[in-house]
Amino acid sequence: MVASSFDDRDGTIWMDGRLVPWRQASVHVLTHAMHYASAVFEGQRAYGGEIFALTKHSERLVRSAELLGFSIPWSVSDIDAACRATLAASGLADAYVRPIAWRGSEQMGVAAPNARIHLAIACWEWGAYFGEAALAKGLRLDLAPWRRPAPYTAPTESKAAGLYMICTLSKHRAADRGFDDALMLDWRGQVAEATGANIFFVKDGVLHTPVPDCFLNGITRQTVIALAKERGIDVIERAIWPEELESFQQCFLTGSAAEVTPVGSIGPWSFEVGALTRQLMRDYAQHVRGQRPNS
Ligand code: PMP
Repeated sequence: MVASSFDDRDGTIWMDGRLVPWRQASVHVLTHAMHYASAVFEGQRAYGGEIFALTKHSERLVRSAELLGFSIPWSVSDIDAACRATLAASGLADAYVRPIAWRGSEQMGVAAPNARIHLAIACWEWGAYFGEAALAKGLRLDLAPWRRPAPYTAPTESKAAGLYMICTLSKHRAADRGFDDALMLDWRGQVAEATGANIFFVKDGVLHTPVPDCFLNGITRQTVIALAKERGIDVIERAIWPEELESFQQCFLTGSAAEVTPVGSIGPWSFEVGALTRQLMRDYAQHVRGQRPNS
């Protein structure tokens, strides 16, 4: 069965300060964000009714907007409260929560300093981002044809809608070629991240992950680094070149939607879904639910 379209569901969406019926949460076709990508968004998960790292996400949303030159007319704590209200209205305990802020319709053309800034928040049920099978077997990643742009060519620290254009292109191409997702290199040719998640590698019990200097320093990435360090696992953040991929034994992705998902292969290079990856998958699953990690 095909899931119902995202604009045709029951429920409510928080929009500019009030909860509106889901099907009425629409914008006009002449909206600056749609033409010029002046939109920033977040994605966070609720576990057992609590939104994990909520304030960090709200802070990043506000900062993402600032990087695009607009300011959201709601404070971080207002946004936190609005996310909680949206979740409560949904009646869901485990859900994905999607806030988005954008420039409205008051002005068209590249410049739109007087366009009104809108904020909406929706939430819905979203199981394993890559499906359950990937958690056991590991993902098959293609190599993306697109590279993460240099920080002097785009506001790469912003979770800006416009930066996802190359992600969608890369992910569609990967799917057409029979892969689950794609590894993106950066403008220098260094390993960067997947199309919607950060990447880690394991070599001889040590974690290696690229320095996030032209892509998001994911909240999940930071959480997993802290969890690994608590276990006494060394974490090395450094430039990683594709030539090194064959020397890694394990690989996994991290993201609020993706959580910790193992990678089985990238192009011709294979990885095992090993004990360290499984440990961090468990640690993360417990941590987001407020449970202490098992020893
Ligand atoms: N990179 C990209 C391109 C993403 O879309 C995401 C998901 N927001 C991440 C990394 C991971 O970020 P986080 O762990 O904060 O969700």
